[in-house]
Amino acid sequence: MVQWLWKGDQSIMDGWALPDIDMSRCTGCGACVTNCPTRAVGMVAQRPRIVRPADCTYCTDCEVACPEGAIICTFVVAWG
Ligand code: SF4
Ligand code: SF4
Repeated sequence: MVQWLWKGDQSIMDGWALPDIDMSRCTGCGACVTNCPTRAVGMVAQRPRIVRPADCTYCTDCEVACPEGAIICTFVVAWG
């Protein structure tokens, strides 16, 4: 069974859990875009956006790559 566990602020768009991006912390470095394996996050006007939400697998690679802690995956997935 898969459970979504509460980790912080909720980020759900059209039924998908998506990473939260805090633009006040984001420097526009693009590391999240470079490290996203599905290209779900892309740069729009020099700022990251979840441009293909259906392609986000919630792998958390963007969160790990961000040097500013500006992109955060709100939930963790637990098997049990
Ligand atoms: S959680 Fe993974 S798939 Fe989703 S935007 Fe971040 S790096 Fe891309
Ligand atoms: S890695 Fe972090 S600081 Fe860099 S563009 Fe993405 S959210 Fe912004």
